[in-house]
Order: sequence, then C-alpha cells, then structure tokens
Amino acid sequence: MPCRGGGTMTTARLDLPMPEAPQSIPSLPDHADPQEHPQATLAGQLLTRGFRWMRFTRGLESEFQQHGAQKRLRHLLISGMLSLLVFNGFLLADWLVAPDVLQQAVQVRLGLFTPMALLVLGFGALWSELVLRRFPQAVIESIVLVSSVSAAASVAYILSITQSVGSAYYHVGFLVVLAYGNVVQRLRFWYAVTASIAIMAMHLWCAVMIPTPEPRLMPAIAALLLFAAFFTLMANYALERDERRRFLLSLRRRHLLQQLDNAHEQLQRISRVDGLTGVFNRHHVQEYLEQAWRRSAHQGDEFAVILLDVDHFKKYNDFYGHQAGDTCLQQVAQALKDSLRRPVDVVARFGGEEFIAVLPQADAVQASQAAERVRLAIENLRLPHGASETSPVVTVSVGVASCIATPARDSRTVIEAADQALYRAKHGGRNRMVLQRLI
Ligand code: GH3
Ligand code: MG
Ligand code: MG
Repeated sequence: MPCRGGGTMTTARLDLPMPEAPQSIPSLPDHADPQEHPQATLAGQLLTRGFRWMRFTRGLESEFQQHGAQKRLRHLLISGMLSLLVFNGFLLADWLVAPDVLQQAVQVRLGLFTPMALLVLGFGALWSELVLRRFPQAVIESIVLVSSVSAAASVAYILSITQSVGSAYYHVGFLVVLAYGNVVQRLRFWYAVTASIAIMAMHLWCAVMIPTPEPRLMPAIAALLLFAAFFTLMANYALERDERRRFLLSLRRRHLLQQLDNAHEQLQRISRVDGLTGVFNRHHVQEYLEQAWRRSAHQGDEFAVILLDVDHFKKYNDFYGHQAGDTCLQQVAQALKDSLRRPVDVVARFGGEEFIAVLPQADAVQASQAAERVRLAIENLRLPHGASETSPVVTVSVGVASCIATPARDSRTVIEAADQALYRAKHGGRNRMVLQRLI
C-alpha cells in the first residue's frame, strides 16, 4: 500500500520502560576520561610525601574538619564525661595528700568545675546539630583546651592553699591532666602542644613560687612531667597523623570509585549508541524490540516497525565523497528522530544507510502516518543529490510492518515484513512508503 500523505499520530497508552534516548547527533567522547580528580591527586601526593605541620591545604583541611566533625564531637563529649569522673575521683587524692583543704577541693571540683562542665557537655549533647553547624572546629577544640587547662589550674589552686607535708606529691596531678588531654581526649596536635606548655608552666610556677616541705623532689617531678609531655605529645601526633591518613585514603577511594562509575556509564552508553549518527545501534534496538514485543504480546497490543533506507546512497557517496555521505546520514538520523516523539518510539541505525524505528502500541494508521511524516521530513531537508535518478534531493524509501503482537508470533517476522515492504517501496520507484499489515 504505497502512500504519500502526511498526518499526525495520536499517542496511545505508554507504559514501557524506556532507556533514555540520545537527543542529538553525537557528542560522544572517544574514550573514557583518564583524568584523576584534582583532590584525589592531591590526596595521593600527601599520602606519599606526607603533610607538614599537621595541616592540609585550606580546602582539604576544611573538608577534613567537616568529614569527621560529628564523630569528633561525639568522642569529645564521651571523653569529656569520663574526664569529669576522673576529675572528681581526684577528691580521693585531695583527701589523702591535702586533707587540710578538702573542703575547698570539694567546692572547686563539685561546686564550680562540675556544674560548668555539665553545662557545656549537656549543651553539646543536646544541641549537637546546632554546635556542628554554628561552631567552627577551632572553637570546639578551644573549649576542650580551656577545660584541660582549668583542670590543671585547680591542681595549682589546691597546691597554693595546702599546708600538707605531702604537697610535693600533689604535683603528679599535672601529669594526669596532661596525659588525659593528649592521649585520651586527643586534643588536636597544636592544641595539645598549647595545653602541655600551659600545664608545664603552671607546674613550674607552683614549684618556684609555692614553698614546699620537700623542695628536692621538684626537679625530679619537673623532669617526669617534661618526659610525660614529650611522649604523650608523640602519641598524640601519631594518632592525628593516622586519622589524617585514613581521611586521605577514603577521599582517594571515593574519587576513584566515582571515576570508575563514570567510565562504566560512558562505556555502557557507547555500547548502545551508534558512533556516527548518535542514535541507538542495532544491538540495542534488537534488545529493545524483544522486550517491547514481549510486553505487547502479553497485552495483545498493536505493534509496528519502520525500516528506512536512503535512496541511491552509493551514488551520493561517489558524487559528494564519503565524508559528505557521513554528514548526510547524520542529518537523516536527526530528522528521523525528530519526527518520532513518543517516549516509547526507539530509533536506531540498522546498518549502513538503513535505519529502523520500533513503534510499540502504534496501529497501522498511526504507523503509516508516522512513516510518511519521516519520509517527508527527510525530503524537506532539501539535501541536494546530484546523482539521484529519483529526485534532485536526498530521499528515503520506507517499509512499514504492522500487526497485533501475540506470543505465537516472533518479533523477527515483523522485521521481515518491514523489509519486504521496503523492498516494494524501492521497486515501486523509491521515495515512498509501503505498509504491510500482518494478519
Ligand atoms: P538504493 O536506493 O537501492 O538503496 O541504493 P543505494 O546506493 O542506497 O544502496 P547500496 O546498498 O547499493 O549502497 C549503500 C551505500 O551506503 C554503500 C555504502 O558505501 C554506503 N554506506 C554504508 N555505510 C556508510 C557510512 O557509514 N558512511 C557513508 N558515507 N556511506 C556508507
Ligand atoms: Mg540505499
Ligand atoms: Mg541499503
């Protein structure tokens, strides 16, 4: 049934899952992008070369801070609660070593330090979201630093008021605060250094300024504190370095996985798309045809296939050159795609200068109207064809096969019928559409 009329196609119920069709003539990259993300490269360099002064570059540093902020806050709150217990447990030492000022010790520990610490810890626990959003990491670290130094200050206070004979031993309290801040609470390295210097200074001030019954013990205690500060700072440094290295590794892994995902997606796309024209390739359309046919056969729906072949294309190539032939195929593909706008219609290059369109749920009238629209759209491109015996412009012959899909019928029979219709269009004089209805 040759046809030359135009017309529009009505849209039927469309519920086939559709792969996203490529929208324009190829913008396909020739290869997967081998470029690594700059941050992944930087992370790799820092992992091999190391990082100085326990700091990354500005952007990376803030990402590091944000990355672990929630976990760090939780750690600081838990270790803060523990330190409060240890701090009050020190009342036992107060009682043993400085019993003359036990009352003041109780006042300082339970009356002053504990309520303040509970206030800060409670705020951090109840409004952690707000704290993380509003308070820079430096503020949170500074609060921990201040609490550590305050704990040491309470030791200095007791030392300054006690008359006990064993007061020299009370200096060991500085050591506990120091070790706890550097290793258990794990202040960030530079805060730990600051806190250690402040605690050492407090100890030295107390040793020099407060008379003690056993002055000979002081140098030994000072040396003990100095070594303790040094070793706990080394441990603190190693812990933070490892934490930073873990962050760099996870950053690198995240970017590499992302890169792999992109490459995979690109490969998938390339494997489905025809490199020259940007429409789907034969492999993909065959898969789609099978899937769409099964669905239609299940529902007993109408089904149509359009096969389209450029007329006298060999002569076009001979006349204008292969390059111009390629451009012509691209324009034909684009016109074909633009003419079929239902989401379920899939257009593909079937081979050479032959294209196919699969039209699920399109009946004979709809399919032949669509095919005629395609034929006219290509003719209206007005691409000169100086060697054609059919027309002065590029034209196509179109074969349409239409039927009701049933499980008994194979989808290949529809393609064969479209091929026969195309053959008849060619032999009928080209630049025409022929419909074959399968009963
Ligand atoms: P007909 O009207 O009967 O279809 O004649 P025809 O010349 O179009 O058909 P034929 O099968 O004799 O020639 C098809 C030509 O299409 C031959 C081949 O060089 C050309 N062709 C196939 N693929 C491509 C391509 O990717 N680029 C270009 N430029 N030409 C191609
Ligand atoms: Mg041809
Ligand atoms: Mg051909």
